[in-house]
Amino acid sequence: MREFHPKTIIEPFRIRSVEPVHFTTLEQREAALKAAGYNPFLLRADDVLIDLLTDSGTGAMSSRQWAGMIASDESYAGASSFYRFEASVQDITGFKHVIPAHQGRAAENILFTAIAKKGDVIPSNTHFDTTRAHVEHNGAEARDQVIAEGRQPRLIHPFKGNMDIAALEKTIAEVGRERIPAIMLTVTNNSGGGQPVSMANVRAVSAIARANRIPFYIDACRFAENAWFIKTREDGYADKSPIEIAREMFSYADGCTMSAKKDGMANIGGFLALNDDTLAAQCRNLEILTEGFPTYGGMAGYDLEAIAQGLYEALDPHYLRYRIRSISYLGDRLTAAGVPIVLPTGGHAVYLDARAMLPHITPTQYPAWSLCNALYLVGGVRGVEIGTVMFGMQPDGTEKAATMDLVRLAFPRRTYTQSHVDYLAEVILEVFAQRDTLPGYRIVQQSPVLRHFTVRLEPITG
Ligand SMILES: *Cc1c(COP(=O)(O)O)cnc(C)c1O
Repeated sequence: MREFHPKTIIEPFRIRSVEPVHFTTLEQREAALKAAGYNPFLLRADDVLIDLLTDSGTGAMSSRQWAGMIASDESYAGASSFYRFEASVQDITGFKHVIPAHQGRAAENILFTAIAKKGDVIPSNTHFDTTRAHVEHNGAEARDQVIAEGRQPRLIHPFKGNMDIAALEKTIAEVGRERIPAIMLTVTNNSGGGQPVSMANVRAVSAIARANRIPFYIDACRFAENAWFIKTREDGYADKSPIEIAREMFSYADGCTMSAKKDGMANIGGFLALNDDTLAAQCRNLEILTEGFPTYGGMAGYDLEAIAQGLYEALDPHYLRYRIRSISYLGDRLTAAGVPIVLPTGGHAVYLDARAMLPHITPTQYPAWSLCNALYLVGGVRGVEIGTVMFGMQPDGTEKAATMDLVRLAFPRRTYTQSHVDYLAEVILEVFAQRDTLPGYRIVQQSPVLRHFTVRLEPITG
């Protein structure tokens, strides 16, 4: 017999615990959306059929993770669950000190409270919004320096998350190394469309950081997905395993922050890991103040167990092949049908370009919000607007169009099957066919900060 190379990439698991999805009628969805002030954040999850609001903490855990959770050690100090967690983080990242935190932003809070102060600048490819908020909360400037290609939605480039090296050097020359307490790199670049960073770029950033004696931290939330892109797109990595690639990536850095709700495959949790002994001692003191004793840091013993196991499962090549393919599979179907999306598709989500799809709705009448609501009305699908409602409000109270108006459809890990994705493609194509009839929206009630979470709107009719 010859070896058989199937084209179908199957879900690399079988299902032994199921959760029903919730079907609704169009009439029920219309009533639910109206009652929610036309804001999908305010819907009850029971009224949603396929929930793509976020990939954060929404994935399915494995039987091994659940087994670890049942067998966890809930001792306040020195629990064996902590040592399993610490060993797995050290094995994958190589960092000496592992400081647990209840989620990614708590790790950021500890790190930036310890290192950032007024007048400092922290460059990154693109700071995630919680990272930016913690940098700014400590009085420092969060500076985004992604390559120019990373800002163009339909330009194909294998590593659109790369740092602009020339811009980074310029920042160091202008600001001076004394005022740069750290350089960050977000892998994959969440706010930039889940786009990966190449190993060559990680190495280049590291070389600059070391030459200037500036600490270099990785925002590692999607480190496993990034490792897969390096394996499949960068010369010299095809024969390396994702864990070898991840270890090399971390070897160039001085530490990392992590939300275990992403590639930790857990529903909650995170950590800060680093090599500097003095800084680690300082961070542990801050941790005791806000998170808890350094061997649990805001998590239960069973959360530590789930992450200790989950970090390895995220690096399984069969899992990663399926994960990245389920995103590109949807992207391919939409692109073939002429639906404008951000290209190439990234690691955790498909982004629909609502401004291109709905030219009859001006940005200040929120085309991406309209598209998001239409996906819910037609198919019970919940995505999230990343556009003018989220970013358009200026500090002086005026409003201007965001850079792009996108709808992000983020995939929870190991949760939906290919038939769910086929259904999703059908819903999007149906909305695309009806696109000329979608209304703009106006805001009827809003809060001054982060308004998208609680805003209430109404469709503009006539
Ligand atoms: C989710 C995320 C964070 C913050 O993590 P939380 O667990 O939500 O606090 C930080 N950086 C990136 C890139 C993220 O995706």
